[in-house]
Amino acid sequence: MSKKFDVIIIGAGAAGLMCAIEAGKRNKKVLIIEHTSKIAEKIRISGGGRCNFTNIYSNYENFLSNNKHFCKSAFSKYTQNDFIDLVKKYKIKFHEKKLGQLFCNNSAKDIIEMLITECENQKVEIKINTEIKSIIRKENLYTLRTLYQKFECSSLVIATGGLSIPKIGASDFGYQIAHQFNLKVTNLYPALVPFTFKDDILEFCKSLAGISIEASVKINKTIFNEGLIFTHRGISGPSILQISSYWKPESTIEVNLIPQNSMDKTLIERRIKTPRQNISNVLSDFLPNKLATAITNFLNTNLKIGEASNDTLKKISNFINYFTVLPTGTEGYKTAEVTLGGIDTNEINSSTMECKKYSGLYFIGEVVDVTGHLGGHNFQWAWSSGYVAGQNV
Ligand SMILES: Cc1cc2nc3c(=O)[nH]c(=O)nc-3n(C[C@H](O)[C@H](O)[C@H](O)COP(=O)(O)OP(=O)(O)OC[C@H]3O[C@@H](n4cnc5c(N)ncnc54)[C@H](O)[C@@H]3O)c2cc1C
Repeated sequence: MSKKFDVIIIGAGAAGLMCAIEAGKRNKKVLIIEHTSKIAEKIRISGGGRCNFTNIYSNYENFLSNNKHFCKSAFSKYTQNDFIDLVKKYKIKFHEKKLGQLFCNNSAKDIIEMLITECENQKVEIKINTEIKSIIRKENLYTLRTLYQKFECSSLVIATGGLSIPKIGASDFGYQIAHQFNLKVTNLYPALVPFTFKDDILEFCKSLAGISIEASVKINKTIFNEGLIFTHRGISGPSILQISSYWKPESTIEVNLIPQNSMDKTLIERRIKTPRQNISNVLSDFLPNKLATAITNFLNTNLKIGEASNDTLKKISNFINYFTVLPTGTEGYKTAEVTLGGIDTNEINSSTMECKKYSGLYFIGEVVDVTGHLGGHNFQWAWSSGYVAGQNV
């Protein structure tokens, strides 16, 4: 015997839970199937445990997609203010950290508890530890089989997220389903992810592990001005995570270690003003001491600034303002916050999230080719796309 539901949602993450709540409000009989033992694990670990649940300024320009207009419809139907109102209704305390990023004061668990309560209010059934073995579509009805059970529904929502952090449940299930139904998936890349290096640049980064600065990083015309931190494997920090979404293997990135200052001019002025000062001491006026020394060691320019030639000063200023590096790669899905790419938006109706070719089949959240910048945008996409599907299932 199969158990019948109006809506079955695969994946109990941000998007799946939001969709379930909204479908439940429309009196739909909803089941969420989750293959791990816990729901909403990514919410729990997000924002350093405080969940950057949305961004005051979130709009379509904060997203990467083959069709950058695709997300507009969902955002117009469910905005960041709608989610903020929900958070306020639950009296969850939050604050703006910077750049419109809203974080819980207490813990990401507040958001999870809110979503669970909303699901309970709508009598949403959640089955954890449940692996789906097959999905068959026949006469607009979807039949799902697990090891021991059979489920049927007229609306099937794929909310299985991306590939990042497999140890807490990420899987390629959504892309497999797309493959089964002959739907296009764009190229997938780990994004919002640190860069790794090898050889001398790796040694340079390693020696500075833990040191952070405000930097500007650039690929073609895309620039992010935020923090950069050196790590034992390369570089990370908000500016690097942001630019990683624009990076393709074998391409370089340009890092400006002192974006507020053109060191070209400054070093020439300092050669006149303070000729007896070591170059590393001059650089220490703008950078952490350790980084200043590492730069002069790396460039073999450990001398008094008065003794430095124009070429030497140019070499230093270029290194600081136009540090062009070729990453070996990224830390990959093990640490990436998101997957860039996903189900091709051409396959999905942007105002319902339903698949154009198969009625009753929906894709929401990170599994779709809509990837946000760092700063609460990815959750906003999960809430908005989940909400929209919830109105249409
Ligand atoms: C460390 C980290 C920190 C982050 N911090 C933030 C932040 O502060 N702000 C922000 O906006 N974004 C953040 N993100 C990104 C954000 O977490 C995701 O974009 C968001 O969770 C995507 O929601 P989703 O519901 O689409 O997918 P997910 O939240 O990944 O949920 C998918 C669910 O599907 C389940 N699943 C997978 N395969 C199957 C299967 N075969 N059967 C059944 N269930 C399955 C998974 O176990 C999971 O529960 C962070 C990500 C990481 C990794």
